[in-house]
Amino acid sequence: MSQRAPLVIANWKLNGGLALIGSFVANFYNNDRKTDVGVCPPFIYLRDLVNSMPQSQLLVGSQTISEQVSGAYTGEISAQMVKEAGARLCLIGHSERRQLFDETNESCKVKLNHAIESGLLPVYCIGENLEEREAGETHAVLAKQMEEALTEIKCTGEQISIAYEPVWAIGTGKAASAEDAQATHAFIREKLAQIFGQSFADTVRILYGGSVKKDNALAYMQNSDIDGLLVGGASLDAEHFKAICDAAETSAV
Ligand code: PEP
Repeated sequence: MSQRAPLVIANWKLNGGLALIGSFVANFYNNDRKTDVGVCPPFIYLRDLVNSMPQSQLLVGSQTISEQVSGAYTGEISAQMVKEAGARLCLIGHSERRQLFDETNESCKVKLNHAIESGLLPVYCIGENLEEREAGETHAVLAKQMEEALTEIKCTGEQISIAYEPVWAIGTGKAASAEDAQATHAFIREKLAQIFGQSFADTVRILYGGSVKKDNALAYMQNSDIDGLLVGGASLDAEHFKAICDAAETSAV
């Protein structure tokens, strides 16, 4: 069981809308819990979600931010704009962004800096793909993703979170075992201690993501280095997602 307050985040990806917001409001309006609950809808719904209930109940976040601050970048949305919309967090480097939109560790580093400067909590997503896992390269891949994006980033452990999302577990129904995830989180924390120092590593929250459901959520949350969960598919049903948050809550100290 972790010493840090649990953080559970819904990533709606290119899904959801006003009906799903209504269902989240119905399930989370009196969200009286120690677990921090976040929801990352498509950009267009950030304001709707922000206005739907007090932010003390729900942390609204974007699924990415622009590498740019302002200017002639049609279609882009900056960290500052996300912040101005009332959001509190943003995902950075989700594997779908890396695979489909060419995000790299270097571009993630730029985005991490923008998020921190804008006062958003960035959730930096890292994880190995199946080929890398089968080649025994998981630790090397994660170390590179952390070194290249996080070195020289100026923040405290409370101002950033890490999401470990093995790519082979995302949307596949093949979740990492809780033991495996705990061992990998311990490695991530050790690496963060090397980069930032022990007190940073002791305070940063490390989330697991990849086929989390209400039936396996508790098993993850019972581990000392697993501080929360990043949930894709199962977050599209507010009641199912609430059950996951309830499981996380039982691990809150
Ligand atoms: C995700 O996309 O961040 C994710 C974890 O998806 P899923 O829960 O559907 O595996």
